[in-house]
Amino acid sequence: MSDCLFCRIARKEIPSAVVYEDDELLAFKDIGPQAPVHLLIIPKAHCEGLNDLTPEVEKAAARIPAVAAKLAKEFGVAASGYRLLANSGHDSGQTVFHLHFHLLGGKALGGKLCQG
Ligand code: 5GP
Ligand code: ZN
Repeated sequence: MSDCLFCRIARKEIPSAVVYEDDELLAFKDIGPQAPVHLLIIPKAHCEGLNDLTPEVEKAAARIPAVAAKLAKEFGVAASGYRLLANSGHDSGQTVFHLHFHLLGGKALGGKLCQG
């Protein structure tokens, strides 16, 4: 999608701190980190979120856990622990409607997934 923020990042029209790239996936540092390590892993092909998976995106996204594990090692949080999550839709607080997985680590993240 031409005006989608993460499509534009994937096309390198908007700069980002890229930490991993292959034909189907891109990973880059979150601009507003919520933890010492906060990376975003996206399929390059556009898809709004988990409710909108296409076969192409599903195939690419299936590789995201393995890429996350590799990045966790590289960023030194594999042993200490990390979280991989995707927000989907209004109640999750999703703000960018191009499927992305957050990789968070480098501090104790807390046990609660829901607040308030
Ligand atoms: P969501 O809230 O949709 O799950 O996550 C969107 C994430 O994208 C947020 O953590 C936010 O900080 C990050 N983000 C928003 N705009 C940009 C940007 O232009 N560059 C980068 N690197 N991250 C962004
Ligand atoms: Zn997009």
